[in-house]
Formats: sequence, C-alpha cells, structure tokens
Amino acid sequence: PFFKINARGHMAVRPHGAKTDPNDEIDLMDAIHKVVASQVDTTSMPLIIRFPDIVKNRMDTLQVAFDTGIMRQRYRGRFQGVFPVKCNPDRYLIQEIVSHGAQTNFGLEAGSKPELLMVIDAMCSASTDAFLICNGYKDVEYVKMALVARRIGLNTVIVLEQVEELDIVIQLSKQLKIRPVIGVRAKLSTKHAGHWGETSGEKGKFGLSVSEIVQVVKRLRRVDMLDCLQLLHFHIGSQIPSLAIVREGVSEAAHIFCELALMGANMNVIDIGGGLGVDYDGTHSSSSDMSIGYNMEEYAETVVEAIKDATIQKNVKQPTLCCESGRALVSHHSVLVFDVLSAHKNGGNHCDRGVSLNIDGLPEALMHLRGDLERSVDEGDYESALMCAQKLKHECTRLFKQGLLTLEVRADIDELFEVISVLAENKKAEEVMDQGVSRKASSGYSATYHINLSIFKSIPDSWAIGQLFPFVPLHRLECEPTERVILSDLTCDSDGKVTTFIGNDKLGSETAKHLPVHELECGKPYYMGMFLGGAYQEVLGSMHNLFGNPHVIHVVPSKSAVGFRISKFLPGQNLASVLMAMHHEPQLMFDNLKERVDDYLMDGTFEKKVTEETLLTSFSSYTYLDPPVNTQSCAFNL
Ligand code: PLP
Repeated sequence: PFFKINARGHMAVRPHGAKTDPNDEIDLMDAIHKVVASQVDTTSMPLIIRFPDIVKNRMDTLQVAFDTGIMRQRYRGRFQGVFPVKCNPDRYLIQEIVSHGAQTNFGLEAGSKPELLMVIDAMCSASTDAFLICNGYKDVEYVKMALVARRIGLNTVIVLEQVEELDIVIQLSKQLKIRPVIGVRAKLSTKHAGHWGETSGEKGKFGLSVSEIVQVVKRLRRVDMLDCLQLLHFHIGSQIPSLAIVREGVSEAAHIFCELALMGANMNVIDIGGGLGVDYDGTHSSSSDMSIGYNMEEYAETVVEAIKDATIQKNVKQPTLCCESGRALVSHHSVLVFDVLSAHKNGGNHCDRGVSLNIDGLPEALMHLRGDLERSVDEGDYESALMCAQKLKHECTRLFKQGLLTLEVRADIDELFEVISVLAENKKAEEVMDQGVSRKASSGYSATYHINLSIFKSIPDSWAIGQLFPFVPLHRLECEPTERVILSDLTCDSDGKVTTFIGNDKLGSETAKHLPVHELECGKPYYMGMFLGGAYQEVLGSMHNLFGNPHVIHVVPSKSAVGFRISKFLPGQNLASVLMAMHHEPQLMFDNLKERVDDYLMDGTFEKKVTEETLLTSFSSYTYLDPPVNTQSCAFNL
C-alpha cells in the first residue's frame, strides 16, 4: 500500500499507506532532485531514502493486528513486540522504533554483545515495561551486561540458547546479587521448508531440546531459582510461508510453555520469534519463497488462537505475547535509489543495422560456414543460423590463437555471432509471445544496464541466496518500457549482477529473466529504485571492491508545496573512511603522498598543483561514480 505510480509517471510513496488522504504522497523524483541539487561537490547516487512513517505504520499495524486477535479470541493477555536489531541496526531507525513504541511497550532484541550494548543505550528512553530480549550465544561478559541492564531498571530477559549458559547466569547473578529473568529458547520439531527455514526443526542450530529444557528446570529448582524462569522463546525461521506452519509451531511451543508452568516455573511470556513474512513478489502465495499466503491480521489471530487453545486445555494462565518480527516491520521503509551509468546492448548496435555477412579477410577454409550461415538467414531459420555462427566463432577463435587471423576479422565474427544470437532469441520469443504484449517487451532483445552501486554492498541477498526484490524505474512510467535488460554493478566481479526479476516474461518461467525499462536518453539521468530492502540488506552488505555505505536521507511528510522535507542527510562513506575500515591510515597515506609529490615535482608548477589536488582531494570523495557529464548514455547511440 505504500507505493504507486503518480500522474506524472513517477514512483510515489504513501508513508501512511493506501487508506489515507490521496494527497498524502511523496514523489520520489522530487526527493531525488532535492538531493542532487544540494550535492554540488559530491556524487549523489546511490542513495537510500528512509521513510520513518512507514516503520511507524508497520508497527501500528502489527499492534492492531494482535490487539484485534486478542479481542476476538477473548484472550486474557496482552501483546508486546520487540524489534530484532540485527535486521537493521541503524541508530536513527532504532531511535524511531523506541520512541514510537513507548506507548505500547515495544522493546528491542539483541543477539550479540555489540547489539546488546546498543540496545541497552537505546532502551534508556523506552518504557520500563518494554522487553529487552537477550538472544544469541553468550559468554560471561554478555551475561554480566544483561544483568547490570536489569539493575538499571530495564526489563531484561536472558534467553538461554545453550544449556552451558545456565551456569554462567546462576553464578553471576549470585555474585552480582541480581535476580535475573530467564527465558529458554526451544528447539521445536516444527520445520519450515523455505529457504529461511534451516534454523527450524530438531536439528536446527539454535535452542534447547526438550530434554535440555527439563534439565534447566531441574537445575533452577535445585538452586531455588525456578521463579526466574519466565519466558519461552522459539523461532521457526524467517519468511514463514503459510499459516499452517505458524499454527503447528506455535501450538507445539504453547504446550511446552504450559508444561513448564505446570512444573512450577513462573511462566508469563511466550516469545514467538520472527518469521512474519513479506510479499516480495506480489503473488500472495504460500508456495513461493518470495511471498506469503497470509496477512498480518491472519498471522496474529492464528498465534493468539493457538496459544489460547493450549492454555485452556492445560488450565494455565494466559501469557503476554511477544514477537520478534523484523523483516515485516522494516522492509518497506527504505528505497535504494541508483542511476544507470551506461548500457550495453546485446549484439551491440549492430542489431539495428541488420546482419552483415561481408567480412573482409575471412580465410578461404571458413567460407563454407559463412555460406551455410547466409542460407539459413535467407530462409529465416535462425536456429540453424545460430549453430553456424557458433561454429564460425569457434573456428575463428581457434585460428586467432594460432596467429592465423587478424583482430579485426575476429571482432567482425564476434559481432556477427551476437547479432545472430539476439535474432534467434527474438524469433523464439515471438513464437511464445502473448497477444497484447509489445514485440520488444516480449522478445529476447536485451541489454545490460550498468548501475551505479555494488550488489555486494546494497543487495547482498540477491547475490547470496537469489532473493528477488522489486526493481522499478522511478520516472518515465507514463511511457511503455521498450528495453529488456539485466543489471550489472560496479564491482569487478561477474557475480555483481541481477539477472532474475519478479514477474513473468512470457517465456514460460515463474520469474523474469529481464527487467522492462526505458531506453536511456543522451545527457539525461535514468533513476531506478530497489524496493523492500529495508531489512538485512544494509547490515549484511560487504565492502567488496571497497564500495562504501551509500548516502542516507530521511524523508517525512510536511505541509510544504512538495509535501515533504528531508529531516536528515547522512553522508555515505568516502575513500578515507573505507580505507580506515581496512586498517589503512589516511593521515599517514596523505603525508606519504605529499612527500612523494614534493620529491617529484617542482613547487609552483601546474603539474604539481594538479597532482597534489587530485591525490589529496580523493580522500574525501564518494566511493561510487559520477555519471559522465552530458554524455550519459551517449555511448549507447554511437
Ligand atoms: N528472532 C530471531 C531469533 C531470529 O533469528 C530472527 C531472524 O532470523 C528474527 C527474530 C527476525 O526474523 P524476521 O526478520 O523473519 O522477522
């Protein structure tokens, strides 16, 4: 509900969802133009645009979904969510979540020591009832930090991830004289088969088996601390595809919860972990890894009902419901904006000129292949033409390696092969073309768009696990897209590309092999957006080729003429900053370079001035590329 195409043919964002005032809309191109205009001395793209209001909307929707489920099921407990900061540990995002969640006791979840420190600090301004859930493997220091957080009034729960952690908790709490609140993470037998389900099931990496949980109860009873055990946690895996899995997992956990209560533990919270999914591909289907077959309301009601049923059956007090949804809360709030630097048409521009078989200097021995090729082209049999072109290319390459062919002839044959490949693909596409789909949009006529970002930095899940994200041109959407492209990034790595897209390009597969976009226009930027990447992508991103964090802006609705204001601009990393991350010392480098320049070049000369300026100002420049001034996309038309 947050995104639409507006009357200007631009992508627009509705930070409060579809049900609000139709004027409550932010044109993404207006936001981009504002940033570009203000960035006179540095490159503007790529850029992450955050919409804090979308996060608030998602938090409210989640809260309302559980409140409604609780009311409809006449459940006697409340809902209190926590945000797992691993999803996106950005300082300002966490601050927004804590301050917006203050009314509903919304808390945070940490899974490591640095996350815990961050969360302790952030929660100093949260409501005192909000949970601070401590997950992840723990050592003495971790447990100590969690215990002292309780001493300063935070509602910290130490969730045991391994049995070994229990001894540390018992010893330290005695030593520090702090009564802990303890949770256990259960390893459920319920498993989800999707990509993100590997953490689930009895062989999952995390949590305690039922026999280990029983050992924990016995040990706590022996040391007179059974009252400290208050929470049961589980996590079936991220992006749970169907409600059937939710129901099965929650029921299993609810029965463990009830049994713990019946064994004498002071059980009052059930924490259902994350897993509430996102409909990335828009199919609303439980059979796709990239979608889910339910909505938030249905999810919440299923959870409430399953817990209610178990507690009624076992006559146990109904607990507070906690969930650790991450992906579902923050995926929508950020849009990654980037520009296209250039395009490479498959077949170069030769496709437009048609097939030319006049190749000067082709050895006599290969003339028969050329003849076969010509005949196939004349007959319109591009399948055979492609086979001939392949043979010709193979033979030419072989002869070139032996020094028997010139570079120019080899180049001509390579071009010929590319043209024939495209024509053959087009012909195939035409045969399966649906009525009403334009020829270009349904054909194999394709290009590579070189985009100004690093997939490894900004969309790592696309590379690592083949996750699909919606990629959309941000303007010119009033015109039909005529090109079909794949995207290739700036890194010197052949994996740095996106070749699978949401949709169906009518070639019989469930995903599209090309993205429909517009032809680049000489001298004009072409902006695209990657949507739904607000969870995991920023923090998982790596520094391959030393491309750094992109600029980030926060955009909030306002009463101004454009309907928004940029409330924050957080500059992306510059060269000095990424070098420092690899332990280089820009100051030392700077001194070293200056010395070298002084040794080599005479004071007061033009050469010295330019060299010095170039080397020294580079430290503060952005790691991404400036689009070529006034020539952008012109190479396309050469
Ligand atoms: N809680 C735990 C323990 C997790 O491991 C995860 C992620 O895998 C989450 C919460 C967040 O899950 P999601 O982003 O699917 O809501």
